[in-house]
Amino acid sequence: MEQFKCHEPKYNLMELREYNVIIKNPRRVDLRVASCYPSPYSTAMSSLGYHIIYHFLNSREDTWCERIIHPHRRSFESGSPLRDFDVVSFTIHYEEDYFRIPAMFRDGGLEPRRDERTGPLVIAGGPCITSNPLPLSDFIDLFIIGEAEPVLDMVMDRCLELDDPRREIDEFRDIRGVYVPDSPAERVIVENMDEACHPVRQIVPVTDDRSLTPSLGRSFLLGVSRGCSRGCRFCMSGYLYRPKRETSLRKLIDISERGCEATGYSKVSLIGAAASDYSRIDELCNELVDMGLMVSMPSLRIESVTPELMEALIRGGLKTITMAPESTMKLRDRLNKPITDSMVFEKTRKALEMGLRVKMYFLIGAPGESREDLEEMARLMRDLSEIRRGRVSFSVNPLIPKPHTPLQWEGYDAREMKQRIRFLGRLVRGLPVRMGSPRGGLIQHVLSTGGPEIGELIERASLSGVPVREWEAHAGPRDPCARLPWHNISVGLREDFLMEEYIKMKDDRLTPWCEESGCYGCMDSCPSLRH
Ligand code: SF4
Repeated sequence: MEQFKCHEPKYNLMELREYNVIIKNPRRVDLRVASCYPSPYSTAMSSLGYHIIYHFLNSREDTWCERIIHPHRRSFESGSPLRDFDVVSFTIHYEEDYFRIPAMFRDGGLEPRRDERTGPLVIAGGPCITSNPLPLSDFIDLFIIGEAEPVLDMVMDRCLELDDPRREIDEFRDIRGVYVPDSPAERVIVENMDEACHPVRQIVPVTDDRSLTPSLGRSFLLGVSRGCSRGCRFCMSGYLYRPKRETSLRKLIDISERGCEATGYSKVSLIGAAASDYSRIDELCNELVDMGLMVSMPSLRIESVTPELMEALIRGGLKTITMAPESTMKLRDRLNKPITDSMVFEKTRKALEMGLRVKMYFLIGAPGESREDLEEMARLMRDLSEIRRGRVSFSVNPLIPKPHTPLQWEGYDAREMKQRIRFLGRLVRGLPVRMGSPRGGLIQHVLSTGGPEIGELIERASLSGVPVREWEAHAGPRDPCARLPWHNISVGLREDFLMEEYIKMKDDRLTPWCEESGCYGCMDSCPSLRH
């Protein structure tokens, strides 16, 4: 029985002080928005997206946006429950957060199901929502498909124009970037990153409690870039937010200067799906270091790890570097991540020489993966750990087919996955390897690829429990000729592009990175080609 447990906060909120919180007079605003985060405070405060929503909405004079972060029942700003707001907004980064949504509604005095609820308009956004909002369509009135900035003002303006926005939901259907079940929706993104919202006065928690410390540490979050078009075939965000868009170097330096002054931080975290691919990354790091700031980067591409970059990150306090070889060289090619083993060894050696620990991420269950491939993967892991014993560790996670990727038609077989994980586990016994959960992978797969029927499972799992076999019933492969549950959601890709990629994957053919090898036309209208 898979049951999701809601925990009471283990810390005392009274001991938490925060800087840069925005307080307005509720009588002087026309719209009160509760910005909800269904994950812990430490994750919320490390989410640049969550800070953006807060600052973007509060930059409107007529609107006051307050935070409600799970498991708290009331807003941090005024202590109000969800039912007191005009609009409730959820920022959702992980499918597992879905289970906390019905609980947050109940805790805030609202019915979880939209057809039984009265009161505020409920909206949601984030990567899982952009890819497939259908599993949450029983709970949410309106979804933002893509990035918030180009859409949010229009949604708020429309709320102010209408007497009862929730009852008049059809009035939102014409806004680009909005999905209201069951109309078609189109993704929208910020084309010029210098015009995106770059919050400077980010909220700073002041506490000794480690559970309240932002997961990225005490650092200013800098939006270096969005999107990535390298084309790893398993990576959902690589398809959702194409192409890569960069904030200009001058702008980044200016934001960092003002941001560190406003927050008191002396460290900057570079945020972006491919932040290490930033075209002037060495210049950016050097300038920040020259300003007396430390630099950190939560995600790094193996190809773009240079000794200079590592040097700058070490000065920023980096102790462990994480890299993702994903699989064997043969399967990496199939997944369109053509990194050679010699490159993986070279970068690992260099990082170890520089005194870093190395953490490696691998995926298990790539299409066509055989026992021999797993044996090869185990050999690779052993050889990497031999470079310097005790300094290299591994994390192996199930590969989960996601919507809007060339793997979207693949199923997820939890029993088969369990056997693979056991087999590999035996081969790497004695190495520091953390294995992911085959059952967790199953649930994530169902939550990301399901239709509206999954809403009932989400609600039941949040209350009591759902037997694993019920999740399994929704995890089979999909017929490439049949309509997919998310067929109404266009993320801007050419209609036949994913099928072409699926066929190329089956034939072990690569699709080169367009930034190096030229455009291969994945989108009908690509901002990269317009600017
Ligand atoms: S349309 Fe061309 S330039 Fe734009 S992301 Fe696709 S391949 Fe790259």
